[in-house]
Amino acid sequence: MTYDPENIFAKILRGQIPAKKVYEDDHVLAFHDINPQAPVHVLVIPKGAYVSIHDFGAKASADEITGFFRAVSKIAAELGLIEPGFRTLSNSGLNAGQEVPHFHLHLFGGRPLGPMLARPPAP
Ligand code: AMP
Repeated sequence: MTYDPENIFAKILRGQIPAKKVYEDDHVLAFHDINPQAPVHVLVIPKGAYVSIHDFGAKASADEITGFFRAVSKIAAELGLIEPGFRTLSNSGLNAGQEVPHFHLHLFGGRPLGPMLARPPAP
């Protein structure tokens, strides 16, 4: 998949549409999900143009990758999620139902989060 610079997170990065910012540094922006699935639901995105976690892992520089995961840790700590626990998730591609084609890590917390995956639909 080629990167579409008109995706909604690219527009947020360019300041063309608003977001409720949680954290920003040279490599990373984090903001509240517009449709939260838990009391805390934050999206962490790299500033570079990567479609998915696969694309990011394959092509990003060591600095970008380190910066990204250091930021995830900082954000989780700043949001008070370390002690109670939290979940991260990244949808990649069709089977995962990825909606926005700019790599993002969902960060969920603020309540017990239940089983890791939803039950599959009945056959
Ligand atoms: P995914 O299905 O993993 O691609 O998740 C995309 C996420 O982006 C969903 O949880 C949406 O609620 C969220 N989202 C879409 N548009 C916006 C927006 N403008 N600001 C914040 N979150 C958004």
